[in-house]
Amino acid sequence: MKVIKIDHLGIAVNSINKGKKFWGDRLGLWLEDSEVMADEKLITAFFPIGESEIELLESTDPDGPIGKYLEKRGEGIHHVAFLVENIEEALAELKEKGIRLVDEKPRKGAGGAKIAFLHPKSTNGVLVELCER
Ligand code: ZN
Repeated sequence: MKVIKIDHLGIAVNSINKGKKFWGDRLGLWLEDSEVMADEKLITAFFPIGESEIELLESTDPDGPIGKYLEKRGEGIHHVAFLVENIEEALAELKEKGIRLVDEKPRKGAGGAKIAFLHPKSTNGVLVELCER
């Protein structure tokens, strides 16, 4: 497998609108795209920085993954996403190497990317997202 770059950092926020004040207004980043992910019960907002992006994640339902995360840990870094060349191949290879997968198969992420998560138990406590664009 080939990891190409850090694609983005996912940050859980209570409100994208409030989050925009720091990431947009204060840091001067440009909000490229915002998307409602109904299945995941969240809204994403992407701010490009060079070759990477900051992804703000706002929950739309306390029972969704971000809702639960915020309830337990509050706002903060939620996941690191790596761009890979071939996500199916990467998942098969990592599984073969004994890495615990959250998603056995890729699913549809924001912006039409194919994404899959690796379990923090196998990654030194970091929720890792693989994505292919
Ligand atoms: Zn992400």
